[in-house]
Amino acid sequence: MSIDNKSIRVRFAPSPTGPLHIGGVRTALYNFLFARKNGGKFILRIEDTDKKRFVSGAEKYIIESLNWCGLTPDEGPEIGGEYGPYRQSERKSMYYSYVQQLIDSDCAYYAFDTPEELDKMRENMKASGIPSPTYNSISRSSMKNSLTLPKEEVVARIEAGEKYVIRIKMLRNQEIKFEDEIRGWVSVNSNNIDDKVIFKSDGMPTYHLANVVDDYLMKISHVIRGEEWLPSAPLHVYLYSCFGWDSQMPTYAHLPLILKPDGNGKLSKRDGDRLGFPVFPLDWISDNNEDVFTGYREKGFSSEAFINMLAFLGWNPGTEQEVFNLSQLISEFSLDRVGKSGSKYDYSKTKWFNQQHLRLKSNQEILDSIINIENDLLQEFSKEYILKVIALVKERAVFESDILSEGQAFFSDNIKMDEFIVNKKWNTELVPNLIELTSRLYEIPDFTHDNIENIFKSYLLTSGLKLGKIMPMLRLSITGNLAGPSMFHSLELLGRDKMKSRIYNAIENLK
Ligand code: GLU
Repeated sequence: MSIDNKSIRVRFAPSPTGPLHIGGVRTALYNFLFARKNGGKFILRIEDTDKKRFVSGAEKYIIESLNWCGLTPDEGPEIGGEYGPYRQSERKSMYYSYVQQLIDSDCAYYAFDTPEELDKMRENMKASGIPSPTYNSISRSSMKNSLTLPKEEVVARIEAGEKYVIRIKMLRNQEIKFEDEIRGWVSVNSNNIDDKVIFKSDGMPTYHLANVVDDYLMKISHVIRGEEWLPSAPLHVYLYSCFGWDSQMPTYAHLPLILKPDGNGKLSKRDGDRLGFPVFPLDWISDNNEDVFTGYREKGFSSEAFINMLAFLGWNPGTEQEVFNLSQLISEFSLDRVGKSGSKYDYSKTKWFNQQHLRLKSNQEILDSIINIENDLLQEFSKEYILKVIALVKERAVFESDILSEGQAFFSDNIKMDEFIVNKKWNTELVPNLIELTSRLYEIPDFTHDNIENIFKSYLLTSGLKLGKIMPMLRLSITGNLAGPSMFHSLELLGRDKMKSRIYNAIENLK
C-alpha cells in the first residue's frame, strides 16, 4: 500500500449510545496506530444524530476511555481543530445543502409515508412471498413520495408542514464495488440495498449521510471501522458517486469481529457478566442504575496490557513477539497484518498480558501504585522493605494488588493456614526436626538467603530428612501457604526473630 503521509487523516466516530465496548476501543486503537505510524492525524468525531439513542455520560466515558488508553486524538470535541465542530449535532446546519444537492441530482427523494402506511407495505409484501420487505427501487413506486406524487402536490405538502423523510434513490440492478484494504474487492448488487432514510423528519441527517459528508469535509483518507459497518459501505460508496466525490473517497478497511471465547458469535456487552470478565475499559453505571458494568481499569489491568491485548485481537506482527508497549505497536502496526477472520477473546491471555506488563515495571513504579491501594502501608513499613517484598513476589503477581495478597506474610504476622493443607502436610512426628532446624538457622551469623540455603541443605544431609517433608512445614509456619517465592529469600527478608516466632507459633497452634 502506498501512503502519502501528509494527507493521512483517520477518525474514530463513536455514537454516544452507552459505554464504549472493547470492540470500539480496538477500532480507536487501530486508527490511532495507523495515524501515528504514518505521520497522520487521529480525529475523534461524536456521531450523535440519533437523539432517541443518546445516552448522557457516554461521550464523557468515551473520552475518558481514550485518555486512559493513551489514545489522545489530534482533533476532537474538547480539543477543537480546523475541521470542527466535531459533534454531529453541532454540525446540523451543514447537512441540509448536501441533501438538497442529492435531491437536485435525482439521487434522493422526499417520502411522506406514515408509519401505518409503511407497516401496510411490509404486510402486503410479506403476503406476496417477500420474506424481508424493504422500501426499495421496486416498492417505492407504490408509495407516497416525490417520485410518485405530482410535483405541485409535493411542494404543497412540504409547504403545509407535512412530515417527511428524505430517502436515497438506490440504483436498480447495478454492481457497486470498492476495494477494502482488509477484505479486497467487495461487490454488491444494488437490488440488495434499500432506499435508506438519509434525512429524518426532525431535521437531522441519519448516520449514513452525516458520516459520508463529514468524512468528506474532514478530509478523511482512511475509514477504519468494525465489520458490522461493511453492509453500509456500498451505500456510502454510492453516496460518494452521487456527490461527484469519487476521487476523494476514503480507503475503507473493515476490521474483523471480536468473537466470544468459544468463537460462537460476536462478543456482546452481556457476555462479560455471563462469563466473568469485563467487556468495557472503565466502570459504567447508567443514570437509572440499570446497567452496571466493571471496567478493565477498575479490575486492576494496566492500560498498556489492555492495549497490547486488544492490538492482538485482529492483528499480529508476523513475529513471535507478543509483548508490546504503545510506541512499539506504533512502529510495527500495518493494516496488511490485520486478518479477515474474527478473533476469539481470551481472558486468561488478557491476564497473561497484564502479568507481562507488570514484570516490565520497576519496583518503584509498583510501589507508587500499591500505595494508592493500601495507603497506610508506608506508615507501617519502610520503603526499602516494601521494595524488597515487591522484588520477591512480583513474578507471581498478575495484578498490582496481588503484590499485597502474595506478599501478605511480609506485611502481617497473622498467619492463616488452610486446614486441608495442614492435615496433608503437617507431620507432628517431625516437629523435633523442625525445632532443630530452626535453631540451626537461627544461629547463622549472617542471615542471608545463601547462608540459610546452605545450612538448610546440610541439615537435610545430616538428618536424612526429605526436602518434601520438612519444606512444606517450614513454609506453612512462615506464610501459611505451600506456594510462594523462594523460602530462603523470604526468611532473609523476615529476619531470624520472625522466623523463630512463627515456627514456634505454628507448633503451638497445631498441637
Ligand atoms: N457512528 C458509528 C458507530 O457508532 C461509526 C461507524 C463508522 O465508523 O463509520 O460505530
